[in-house]
Amino acid sequence: MRIFKFGGASVKSPDAVRNVVRVLQHQGTENTLVVISAMGKMTNAFERLIKAYTEGTDDVKPALQAIKDFHIEMLDGLFEKGDEVYTEVTYLFGELAGRMAINTSDDYDYVYDQIVGFGEILSTTIVSAYLTKIGIENKWLDVREYIKTDSNYRDAKVNWELTETIIKEKVDTSKLNITQGFLGNNGEYTTTLGREGSDYTAGIFAYCLEADNVTIWKDVPGVLNADPRVFTETELLQKISYTEAIEMAFYGASVIHPKTIQPLEQKQIPLYVRSFDDLDRSGTTVLKSNGIEPEVPCYIVKKNQILISVAAKDFSFMVEDNISDVFKKLHDYKLKVNLIQNSAISFSVCVEDKFNSFDKFYNDLKETFKIKSYKDVTLYTIRHFNDDALDSIKKKGKAIIRQINTETAQLVIQENV
Ligand code: ADP
Ligand code: ASP
Ligand code: MG
Repeated sequence: MRIFKFGGASVKSPDAVRNVVRVLQHQGTENTLVVISAMGKMTNAFERLIKAYTEGTDDVKPALQAIKDFHIEMLDGLFEKGDEVYTEVTYLFGELAGRMAINTSDDYDYVYDQIVGFGEILSTTIVSAYLTKIGIENKWLDVREYIKTDSNYRDAKVNWELTETIIKEKVDTSKLNITQGFLGNNGEYTTTLGREGSDYTAGIFAYCLEADNVTIWKDVPGVLNADPRVFTETELLQKISYTEAIEMAFYGASVIHPKTIQPLEQKQIPLYVRSFDDLDRSGTTVLKSNGIEPEVPCYIVKKNQILISVAAKDFSFMVEDNISDVFKKLHDYKLKVNLIQNSAISFSVCVEDKFNSFDKFYNDLKETFKIKSYKDVTLYTIRHFNDDALDSIKKKGKAIIRQINTETAQLVIQENV
């Protein structure tokens, strides 16, 4: 039994979907569970719809139309007019409109999950129907009947015991199964596992089914030592240990979702990251080993960070009690901390404002503390750094924080000064 994951890029157009089929035909279509994300950039499109809907603006109509147009174009590129899948997709859009019409909740995160999930449902419905049309038998699973979570909408925690029992009992591992990434269910409503969470979905199924391996199919040859959109020269990492992959994901390497590796490591399930274009290349293997191969500096870039320096108004030291107050608020406002630095009288953190709550956090904290903040800074992390690697990053702008330990160097850089 193996698990495949195809992200948005691999189903972004009719040709891309045909390529997914080519990959499946090349790899064999049995004993496989395929996890698929929303098509192309549809999750971003759904986020625009949700924003307009919750703010009650006129943008709802065009935002919804753009999503409909995208999916209809996809159908037109893959099917004949009148094929049953058109009715299924129309039904799903009806369901979406119905939900938006009857919703009375003003809990943004709850509403978000109920709407955004249609991206994955539409995508898997279309891919599954296309496989059927060309004669590849497959079973469409509604992942919400399998992955059970708590009610922490937009960042739901998996109920492992229940999920494992259901998955073990209900998945027919001899077949080709098609299911959605990213989504879960709290017993009543749809939940989501956090943006880019489809990798994690693959990890959850692999863990519960004790899969032989997981393959994440990508538009890059595998895990590179830097994001090719930011760095012109990159190298393919052939092997990465679980520990190294967790470290890289933790520091923000966006190529694998951070929560994906731990379940795999626990059951020693290898993870392959491979190109969906070039099937002759073996890509990257994440497995039990040491470090990385080849051992080169790896760069992780996180843009749009906020650096906050906090000091006590009464000049007291920033120690346990003060710091724990700051951390409690960071947690309450769901700010994601990516770097911490402490001195006697000030405490600095580099955070990501994922949920747009920084201003509220700032106003709350300034009652008790003196705060300085630098918006729009970039956090560069270099694993296995050397002097050349450090120099290349220092050239990017003004370094306002530098933190170095044995394996990892981190620099917060103001790039536009
Ligand atoms: P998916 O469609 O699978 O969700 P994403 O677009 O989220 O794919 O991720 C693939 C992209 O991640 C690549 O096109 C690449 O630009 C980017 N990326 C960032 N860091 C890395 C890295 N270290 N190695 C390879 N790709 C990376
Ligand atoms: N569609 C979701 C997202 O774009 C989940 C995923 O692609 O992994 O965040
Ligand atoms: Mg992705």
